[in-house]
Amino acid sequence: MAKGRVSIVVERCKACGFCVEFCPTKVLALSSAFNSKGYHPPHVVEPEKCSGCDLCGMYCPDFAIYGYKTPAPKAEVKAEATHEG
Ligand code: SF4
Ligand code: SF4
Repeated sequence: MAKGRVSIVVERCKACGFCVEFCPTKVLALSSAFNSKGYHPPHVVEPEKCSGCDLCGMYCPDFAIYGYKTPAPKAEVKAEATHEG
């Protein structure tokens, strides 16, 4: 289960590749699609590996990407709570 998610603002991206290069778990790859400026933005190839560390966001010079932590899914929390008795 992924602990984080990454959000990509495709139109701001200039395809420098920093986010792809610096993601510690290789969540991202540059897409073969173009944005309206003619750049290849990143896309998520391994969503389950994202920790939400936001290193991609820190390295992006164009504020085109950011990562964030996701809370534990509610179903799991509930299952743990009802295991008494
Ligand atoms: S670091 Fe930012 S500008 Fe560079 S490829 Fe990633 S999203 Fe695009
Ligand atoms: S938030 Fe961290 S793990 Fe997720 S894509 Fe960005 S650098 Fe990779």
